[in-house]
Amino acid sequence: MAHVTRPTTPAEAWSALREGNDRFVRGEMQHPSQGVDHRAEVSSAQHPFAVIFGCSDSRVAAEIIFDQGLGDVFVVRTAGHVLDTTVIGSIEYGVDVLGASLVVVLGHDSCGAVAAATAALTTGELPTGFVRAIVDRVIPSIVNLGGSGAVASLDPAVLGHEHVRHTVRMLQGYSRSLAESVDKGQVAIVGLEYTLADGTVHLTEAVGSV
Ligand SMILES: [Zn+2]
Repeated sequence: MAHVTRPTTPAEAWSALREGNDRFVRGEMQHPSQGVDHRAEVSSAQHPFAVIFGCSDSRVAAEIIFDQGLGDVFVVRTAGHVLDTTVIGSIEYGVDVLGASLVVVLGHDSCGAVAAATAALTTGELPTGFVRAIVDRVIPSIVNLGGSGAVASLDPAVLGHEHVRHTVRMLQGYSRSLAESVDKGQVAIVGLEYTLADGTVHLTEAVGSV
C-alpha cells in the first residue's frame, strides 16, 4: 500500500511517521510502498517526505519502526547518531534537493554510544581505533551536565535525552540551509526517543512547528 498522498508539511510528515509507529507498536504493520509495482514506480525518482537521522543500532531500523517503505524516508544512520560534515551534507541533500519537510533525530534507550561516552568521562577509558571518533562526538552532548562525577550518577535516560536534544540544536546551528528552511516554516527538526522494548517513539524536542 502506498501513501495516498505524500505528506508535504512538517505536521503531515510527523503524522505519517506517528501513525506508522502506532501500527508497528500494535503489530498491525501495513508494509506500505513495498510492492513490486511501487518498486518500479519509484525507480525513476525519489521524493521522500522525511529525513530520519538515527543511531545505527540494529534494533532501531528506521523504515521498520515507522512502517514505511521504498521512497518514503531518506535515512542517515551513524552509531550514536553523531554528526559530521558528510552526515550534515546527507541531511541537507534530503531536504534541499529531495524536498523532505521533516528531519528526525532518532535516539533510543540503552544506546551503546552514550554509555561509552559516559564511561569515557567517568573512567577516562577510551575505545581504540576510529570508534573513539564516535565517543568524542557524543561527549559534548553530556559533558555539561555537571562534570564527570555528576554524569556517572545520572540516569542513562537523562543522558540519552540530552544527546538527542543537543544533536537537534547542533543540526540547526551548523546547517544554514536547514535553519533557513525552519525559519520559513517549510521544515521542522524533531528529536524522537525510541524505546527498544515496546517500540514506541516519543517526541521530546522540536525546532519549528509540527
Ligand atoms: Zn544507539
